[in-house]
Amino acid sequence: MTQTTQKINLLGMGLSSLERFFTEELGEKRFRAIQVLKWIHQRGVDNFDDMTDVSMALRDKLKLVAEIVPPEVTFKQYSIDGTRKWVMKMPGGNAVETVYIPEEGRGTLCVSSQIGCALDCSFCSTGKQGFNRDLSSAEIIGQLWVAARSWDEPGKKRDRHVTNVVMMGMGEPLLNFDNVVESMGLMMEDNAYGLSKRRVTLSTSGVVPRIYDLAEVSDVSLALSLHAPNDALRNELVPINRKYGIAETLKAVNAYFERLPDKRVCTIEYTMMNHINDSEELATELAAVLRDTPCKINLIPFNPFPNSGYERPSNNRMHRFKDILQQGGYNVTIRKTRGDDIDAACGQLIGQVSDKTRRSERFIEAVELGQTAATVATKRTDRSAV
Ligand code: SAH
Ligand code: SF4
Repeated sequence: MTQTTQKINLLGMGLSSLERFFTEELGEKRFRAIQVLKWIHQRGVDNFDDMTDVSMALRDKLKLVAEIVPPEVTFKQYSIDGTRKWVMKMPGGNAVETVYIPEEGRGTLCVSSQIGCALDCSFCSTGKQGFNRDLSSAEIIGQLWVAARSWDEPGKKRDRHVTNVVMMGMGEPLLNFDNVVESMGLMMEDNAYGLSKRRVTLSTSGVVPRIYDLAEVSDVSLALSLHAPNDALRNELVPINRKYGIAETLKAVNAYFERLPDKRVCTIEYTMMNHINDSEELATELAAVLRDTPCKINLIPFNPFPNSGYERPSNNRMHRFKDILQQGGYNVTIRKTRGDDIDAACGQLIGQVSDKTRRSERFIEAVELGQTAATVATKRTDRSAV
């Protein structure tokens, strides 16, 4: 093992972990942890020598036992509409995608929590690639670190471009619980990114026991990927529904919000697929099913990928669906498909996963092999140079 791999990566450590490290491992004062935390996350520094208000002696000590290792960016693309996208290569050879989407008065970063996903939702390109591994907390917060640093020179105090984070990239965040909670803590930590808890959103397909666990340790905002108003249809689209049905899932979500002191509501995500889940009858059924869940509804036009088997509905169909929900008294938006020119928007990311379960190979075999393999190969060549 090289010396580097034995060093501890400070990037993913929340304030209390870092304070423990400074006091217990290094025998240093607690405030040193805050100093270093600010250098790493507020000024984008990854080199102890740049931390000019830290004594030389402590910098030398840190260099021996610790390091700050961000994810390796292998591809980046900045669109004229302000959208930015990064492909970050993670140790082990796989990559994840992170996307920044600017809107009026805010900038949202869509962050990945796992390489691939085991939950296999039928319309999701990440799910089709299978599961490879969890991201570490350094690899999760590293995506925000890379994004925040992309506007400025490291070392300087910075303008805040990223105002919101949504855990809607690759992976199911609640199945990588500890690392996601630690990194979301850094997002909200005043000495790091200082984002409001209202502006950090965890999106889940409904891992019910972990929703209750989250309520014990965090007060981030929560989004539920529902996609269907009844169990028969949701069982097909979101297989985890066979384990935790809609009633049980909404009960957990309600319990999560009931104990929050503020008036936040759940965001219900509903990916619209042509003639699958977009009929007027289903809109009426959805309005009934959500009756007891304080929520706003975000309709996401399906983002096609090769051999998905689904299509995006027409604007007319989506608006009809929206109107019915609005008439039922709901706050409903249809997500804008921003960043189309760079082939990326939140929740629609196609990474490069080598599936430990070999499920992606089976997926590719099951569809027309030549076409899919060719598409993948072309994309990889296009993206190889940075
Ligand atoms: N695993 C979590 C978070 C990542 S997916 C979850 O499922 O909530 C983030 C969002 O993108 C989810 O709402 C998901 O349903 C949606 N999504 C996945 N594939 C999509 C596609 N092809 N088109 C549109 N939305 C998609
Ligand atoms: Fe996993 Fe979310 Fe995709 Fe489902 S939609 S496969 S839970 S990433």
